[in-house]
Amino acid sequence: MSRSTPLMSIDGITCAYGGEPALVNVRLDIRREDFIGVVGPSGSGKTTLLRALLGSVAPVAGAIRRQKGLSVAYVPQVEAIDWNFPITVGECVLVGRSAGRILPWPTKREKAEVADVLERLGIASLENRHIRDLSGGQQQRVFIARALIRRPQLLLMDEPTSGVDLTTRHEVLHLLDELNRSGLSILLTTHDLNGIAAHLPTLVCLNQEVIGMGPPGTVLTPEVLERTYGARMEVLQHAGIPVVLDPYDRLNVVPIKPSHAHPRGH
Ligand code: ADP
Ligand code: MG
Repeated sequence: MSRSTPLMSIDGITCAYGGEPALVNVRLDIRREDFIGVVGPSGSGKTTLLRALLGSVAPVAGAIRRQKGLSVAYVPQVEAIDWNFPITVGECVLVGRSAGRILPWPTKREKAEVADVLERLGIASLENRHIRDLSGGQQQRVFIARALIRRPQLLLMDEPTSGVDLTTRHEVLHLLDELNRSGLSILLTTHDLNGIAAHLPTLVCLNQEVIGMGPPGTVLTPEVLERTYGARMEVLQHAGIPVVLDPYDRLNVVPIKPSHAHPRGH
């Protein structure tokens, strides 16, 4: 069976930056056709897990095995991007193709590859636009295009939908689902339990350790959520999809203005 050999195997890794470990004894297999969402509170080790998979953080214990010749691409958090860098959509995607090499004169073949991937993601008409002048959803697509041009088998994404509106989140989720169905394995981290995580085939609840793993319907329980987030939350079922109720909105990344914060005077 093709599912028998994982693309990557995380075999009991512990990762630390000097002090308390960020990850403890984490085990996870990533297989062909997987679409895995990693959820957990801020500081729970989600980005560290991606860094370990990318090889930029070395585990202090355990090991990561990757299939020989595996091609992995990474989409960073949009917040980490310098939007003032003067670059067009086409150039931005080309940098992915050339692995960082600045190319004043791309080859014909490279140009065709950029055009192809932009077409595939429905942003061909934006090729000559500045990346700053795009909507949130378009920007997400550009950075996904930049990762896909390397023809990865596995796509790693850190909080792909944070800071974008609901419509964009749906669009990006739909796009990722299509890519997954066409054979791409995806592992992403997300803060968004109801908008993203509950719709993915497999979830990993992380808080230094793996607290729970499996389909949302079995993993998103009050018990697992309490051990992951340190807070009690109710879970409803809506059309077969779990909905997590968080009365204090601890899961929502959008800051809530306290009602007493009105300016005085005037
Ligand atoms: P998440 O992505 O879930 O918010 P991180 O993986 O970024 O979590 O962080 C996990 C823990 O590791 C946190 O306690 C964080 O403060 C710590 N950490 C992350 N990056 C570094 C770093 N470069 N140096 C020192 N500590 C770090
Ligand atoms: Mg993070």
